[in-house]
Amino acid sequence: METERRRLLVANWKMHFVRAQALEYLKVFTERVQGLHKTELVLAPPFTLLEAVGREIIKTMIRLAAQDLFYEREGAFTGEISPLMLKDLGCSYVIVGHSERRRIFGETDELIHKKIKAALEAEIAPILCVGETLEERRAGGTQTVLESQMRGALEGLMLFAPSPLAPLPSEGEGSRGEGDRLVIAYEPVWAIGTGVNAKPIEAEASALFIRELLAQLFNAEIAKEIRILYGGSVKPENLEDFLKQPNIDGALVGGASLDPEAFAQMAQIAERCDG
Ligand code: PEP
Repeated sequence: METERRRLLVANWKMHFVRAQALEYLKVFTERVQGLHKTELVLAPPFTLLEAVGREIIKTMIRLAAQDLFYEREGAFTGEISPLMLKDLGCSYVIVGHSERRRIFGETDELIHKKIKAALEAEIAPILCVGETLEERRAGGTQTVLESQMRGALEGLMLFAPSPLAPLPSEGEGSRGEGDRLVIAYEPVWAIGTGVNAKPIEAEASALFIRELLAQLFNAEIAKEIRILYGGSVKPENLEDFLKQPNIDGALVGGASLDPEAFAQMAQIAERCDG
């Protein structure tokens, strides 16, 4: 890895687990990852479990993420969850623009832009998901799609804020850069939940393209600091090949993260992989 970007693994539980299952998961997972410190581990349970999971992991190095947010701080928005509420529950991260939200719930780049802005203002680091569909890929449109999603979500935003970012650093880590305010997840839609992962070399090409775009949208220094994850059928068997790519700093894991043993195994792989 050419810079000091800390490795990051995010478990997206999606709409899975009730409280007893989550507590059972955490019993296994927290024990298996005890003592690991090089890789940042993040759990993104459904909203209903944020408090229970947050309480269990508070004394560990594991961080909490929400799977979505609304952009207003409060008001008459039945069913929505505000950045303030996520902050109150101890969320360090929030996933924004997941392809399931774009596809099933019709989220547009304009809405995603507002959500990213709201998360940044609340000092919750957004994990922005971008990625092409199979049709778009076959038509040679991968970079066009990535560019329009990245620009739609990020153009005009400032990562800088007058106050330092509070939620990410843990004790002894010292101050962290502007780039820690934002994470990008490259998730080709055709690889999500299908068991068919992208080839690591292809994922690297997209990650590099994303990093170059970040340099245009912000500046070269920030672009070097921002972590780019790969997501799409990551499992213990293929994780290392992605982590070896110079522009891939970790993974957003769906299906395989539902098994605490498998996700802990991935944490161990990330910890010892030089990449
Ligand atoms: C995801 O939903 O972000 C994801 C990457 O899922 P899976 O790992 O199951 O492909």
